[in-house]
Amino acid sequence: MHTKIIKIESETTDIGEAADLIRAGELVAFPTETVYGLGADALKADAARKIYAAKGRPSDNPLIVHIADFSQLEYIAAKVPKEAKILADAFWPGPMTLIVPKNGRVPYETTGGMDTVAVRMPNHPVALRLIRESGCLIAAPSANRSGKPSPTEAGHVFCDLDGRIPLILDGGAVGIGLESTIVDLTEETPMILRPGYINKAMLEEALHTEVKLDPGLAGADSVERPKAPGMKYKHYAPDADLIVVEGKSADVVETINALVLEMKEAGKKTGVIAASETRERYRADHVVSIGAREDEDAIARHLYKLLREFDALRVDVIYSESFQTPRIGQAIMNRLVKAAGHQVIKVEKPPERQNERNDETV
Ligand code: AMP
Ligand code: MG
Repeated sequence: MHTKIIKIESETTDIGEAADLIRAGELVAFPTETVYGLGADALKADAARKIYAAKGRPSDNPLIVHIADFSQLEYIAAKVPKEAKILADAFWPGPMTLIVPKNGRVPYETTGGMDTVAVRMPNHPVALRLIRESGCLIAAPSANRSGKPSPTEAGHVFCDLDGRIPLILDGGAVGIGLESTIVDLTEETPMILRPGYINKAMLEEALHTEVKLDPGLAGADSVERPKAPGMKYKHYAPDADLIVVEGKSADVVETINALVLEMKEAGKKTGVIAASETRERYRADHVVSIGAREDEDAIARHLYKLLREFDALRVDVIYSESFQTPRIGQAIMNRLVKAAGHQVIKVEKPPERQNERNDETV
């Protein structure tokens, strides 16, 4: 199959071909504000099945249904929890996905066999136009091969899915760069199943109630399985071994440089992901800056692109600083630690040394 790319030049660029493909039960990759999605008609079982095949995605990992109007959530939900309207009013269109009970209109192929459905209204003109022009609700997971970092540019989609899908809408680089916050509204208390740009405090402020965090998200430290089926898979991973190092800034630099030296002596090619402030202090073969520490939006936006670039550089091992930033740090660290397969080194130097260096924890 030839994969065509249509470059979106303006709000009037013709996307009729994409809308026709969706209506015909075919796949189209398109930009959203979070990451690129791989879309198909959410209410056609055969169309949803094609998404799993193209991505190599396990069939028990449900898809997110993209809508352009709140009435479309009502159309596919068995029940609309009161929190859904409040959160939609506060954050839609935007990077938040709501889990609600599904009705019979949604095939189990779309929900990975679950009786609940994930729904989101994306804040991107091309995504909204595609939903409206096709007249379909569009099921779309991230448009990467399963296990790879999510695509934040059309080129990433092409790299992963060339020859496997008929069309990519190229709307340029995405704005946020991390997948949506997933909020489960099917239990008594709303629960975050996947952290994202919309954080716990923002949700609680809108709802005026407590919001829980899925205890299964604690990863290697957790005894529980994550509630979002997709969160249990190895994910977002670069080809190289990735290790996250946490601690005071100077200790992290010292530890990473020692590890880099060890690896170099063993004949390995090394990479480092650093904030722009510490970039110059590393001695690895490839040191990349993810952005300034205060600019957490930039850190989020660059993460997946950097992980993909390291694949092209063919490094053997990547060390990354840790980015526990105030607003979206939880989402950034969730993806980074998952990409690292939970390999995290916590550097704790003796107290007398910590006093010497009165610097921040990274
Ligand atoms: P992706 O769009 O590729 O980031 O994948 C969608 C994410 O949403 C995966 O982590 C899924 O497990 C999660 N998800 C979708 N539907 C549901 C659902 N009904 N219940 C819980 N998690 C869901
Ligand atoms: Mg994904």
